Amino acid sequence: MVKAQRGTKDIFGEEVLTWQWLLKNAQDVFQKACFSEIKTPIFEATELFARGVGDSTDIVNKEMYSFSVGGAEKDSASITLRPENTAGVVRAFIEHNIVRQSPPQKFWYFGPMFRYERPQAGRQRQFHQIGVEMFGVKEASADAEVILAAVNFLKSIGLGDLEIELNSLGCPKCKAEYRNSIKEILKPYLNDLCDDCKMRYEKNPLRILDCKNEDCQKIFELKEVKEVILADYICDECSEHFNQLIEYLDGLNIKYSRNKLLVRGLDYYNRTVFEIKSCALGSQSAVCGGGRYDGLVEMLGGAPTPAVGFAMGVERLYVLVDKIKSLKIDYFVVSTNSLEAMKLTQKLREKGRVVDFDMQGRKFAKQLEKASKIAKCAIILGDDEINQGFYSVKNLETGEQVKVESLEEL
Ligand code: ATP
Ligand code: MG
Repeated sequence: MVKAQRGTKDIFGEEVLTWQWLLKNAQDVFQKACFSEIKTPIFEATELFARGVGDSTDIVNKEMYSFSVGGAEKDSASITLRPENTAGVVRAFIEHNIVRQSPPQKFWYFGPMFRYERPQAGRQRQFHQIGVEMFGVKEASADAEVILAAVNFLKSIGLGDLEIELNSLGCPKCKAEYRNSIKEILKPYLNDLCDDCKMRYEKNPLRILDCKNEDCQKIFELKEVKEVILADYICDECSEHFNQLIEYLDGLNIKYSRNKLLVRGLDYYNRTVFEIKSCALGSQSAVCGGGRYDGLVEMLGGAPTPAVGFAMGVERLYVLVDKIKSLKIDYFVVSTNSLEAMKLTQKLREKGRVVDFDMQGRKFAKQLEKASKIAKCAIILGDDEINQGFYSVKNLETGEQVKVESLEEL
């Protein structure tokens, strides 16, 4: 017996109803806000993620499903199952010269992502994200519009009260100064940091602040280290941008808190970063992560284009929403004459009803038993009904049965 791979899941039955509902809400909310859906391929050139996500990130270093295809053929290449979708959307944005349309260009997406991680609650190897990317606006109004889209979607699924954490990473210039002071203050503790952080120290020191290792956390708590970590380092322009964002959020009545330790896992963020969390999720508490990535389009070969976006983990949303229990269908047609049953079923489906029938012509009692499990009403088509042209309709909740003369009346 071949089983599903560790960290993957089959989604069916009642569960799929909740998924469909989540997606329908996403579609409604994002389309109302004029984001258009984009579907990019599930695999891309490995190089896209190495450059676009960053080769000092956990994703690129440890979590990618990469393989080569084509063997000795001349188009053999290393491809990767997408671990996230920003890089793919940016690639499409550049490839189709979407930059030529007047800004902003606003997209939303839904789809599976793949990361080779240790599976646990809220952490899978194939998981799904709903996300948004907006290009062409450097002003803080774009950051606010993207956060608003996230909040509106969460509201639509009954999660309007989740905590938003916000930070600004500054621009490449002030970020570099901050990075240097972090390196300076951590230098004496280098040997006490975990192996990952030793590597990050060289490649991407800010990521150290994101480390979940307890020994590393203790070092961050030391007075002189903490002072440097929490210092206000961003330059005047970045500060101004951040203050404007806060004005928008206050004006829109969106609650948030500042978390100066929020750095986010991906390399490409600048200025605004945010996460939306729920303590109900335990240690995998983040449902949404996002931020501004003004340098990415240019870095991947496009014209310099400011951009901001977010991604949400659907499996984590699923845990938080009220589950939809299976819904009963409108009618089950009970008849030993499968053809007559099928003809009536077809007519009712054409009228927009949700209808099923027995395809095996089983005994009446068996069919009625099935009908009462899955349907609101049974329509009985016995010999009398068929010969005399009427319908017996049984309300399966009250048990009441009536005689109906025509399809219209039905
Ligand atoms: P985490 O810190 O939980 O690993 P991340 O920073 O790696 O999250 P992002 O790359 O920002 O996550 O992805 C955005 C969202 O996608 C996360 O907030 C989370 O809800 C979801 N997510 C990320 N990785 C997984 C996974 N392996 N399984 C399920 N959901 C995930
Ligand atoms: Mg992660």
